[in-house]
Amino acid sequence: MIKKLSLNSQIFIGAAIGIVLGLILNQLGQTSPFPRNLIYICDLLGRIFVDLLKMILIPLVFTSITLGIVNLRAHAQMGRVWRITMIYFLCTPALAVLLGLILANVFKPGVGVETVMFQDAVQSFRNMDQMTFAQFFKTFLGSLFMNPLAAMAKGEILAVVIFAIFLGAAMVKLNDRVKTVQNFLAEAFEIVMLIVDWIMKLAPIGIMALLAKLIATQNVGVLQALWKFVLVVVGGTLFHGLVVLPAILYFFTGIKPLYFFNHMKEALVTAFSTSSSSATMPVTLNCIENNLKVDKNIAGFVVPLGTTVNMDGTALYEAMAALFVANLVGIDLNITQQIIVFFMAILASIGAPGIPSAGMVTMIMVLQSVGLPVEAIALLLPIDRPLDALRTTVNVEGDAIGSLIVQKFSKPSPSPL
Ligand code: ASP
Repeated sequence: MIKKLSLNSQIFIGAAIGIVLGLILNQLGQTSPFPRNLIYICDLLGRIFVDLLKMILIPLVFTSITLGIVNLRAHAQMGRVWRITMIYFLCTPALAVLLGLILANVFKPGVGVETVMFQDAVQSFRNMDQMTFAQFFKTFLGSLFMNPLAAMAKGEILAVVIFAIFLGAAMVKLNDRVKTVQNFLAEAFEIVMLIVDWIMKLAPIGIMALLAKLIATQNVGVLQALWKFVLVVVGGTLFHGLVVLPAILYFFTGIKPLYFFNHMKEALVTAFSTSSSSATMPVTLNCIENNLKVDKNIAGFVVPLGTTVNMDGTALYEAMAALFVANLVGIDLNITQQIIVFFMAILASIGAPGIPSAGMVTMIMVLQSVGLPVEAIALLLPIDRPLDALRTTVNVEGDAIGSLIVQKFSKPSPSPL
């Protein structure tokens, strides 16, 4: 019976079972051994799935970007692809931040929130290491150019992306003289994609386990105390993901949003349950190339780059959270300060790696840029898991839409852009 179901349906059944199981486990609490053991098993299964995705991530990023550059250049498309990608990666997070700022100004989340229940969290956060903007910037720059082998071993995706761009450019320059290397990379890419297919067969169980664990361990009390903030973030992120981005997609490509979501389901569910756009990348690439039929070379360039720098959901969250913290401590940010938040939120989203709660770390610099207390992060950490799941889903959606738009405007025919 199960064998006859498509992978898509299996993933959805897995997600549904995971949600129900998580709700039951959350109600049972973790005091008795049965729910505790079940959560442990779910944690283990979820981890194996995410680890498998991470295992294939670096070979995938490396081969797809290098090949993408070589092949795009062969068709004289590289310049246009590069330009449109950059314009898209700058404009959509800017729209997301603007939306976040508008909603935060209208709904004013954080006004009147009782913070006493978070005293312990604030105290433990104070004891943690904190990063200033200068330190953040230095770390960010330091993660751009690295020994490629070290970068691969450490899983530093941005550094791998940059090395792959250099390698691709050099191979373009040397052209026919490096045919063997080109063929080798093309074959390696085929192999990697086959392994991705195998890993995806485990997706239904992995996603079920991840969702069950996520819901089972969520502290509902904290969510309730900050309900207004949670509601505005969820509303804003959904609006960006369900209205703004689909409208951009439809306007520029004529692709209907329902068609898009239908063909991206696997990647979006994986993003939600892993809270990691990097771990989701193999699935994203699979959906974009096989379901949405985006040219392998364009997808192979836009998606890995977007995974690390284009994060609409994170950008929106960073701006909204900064205003939330300002309201919490009773500071009214003026227009200049909000403009600073606007730029810092975009920068923070670019700097955040595609891993769970990365946005929390880079948010420190947004808060510091306008003199807000970074300790307030301690209030946001307990509610970050569900919000992170949602913003990661929008981050992945943004990359997919980006590759469709880039594909549309990179055709060799005269372009309207
Ligand atoms: N988890 C997000 C991602 O992987 C990053 C973030 O924390 O906002 O895209």
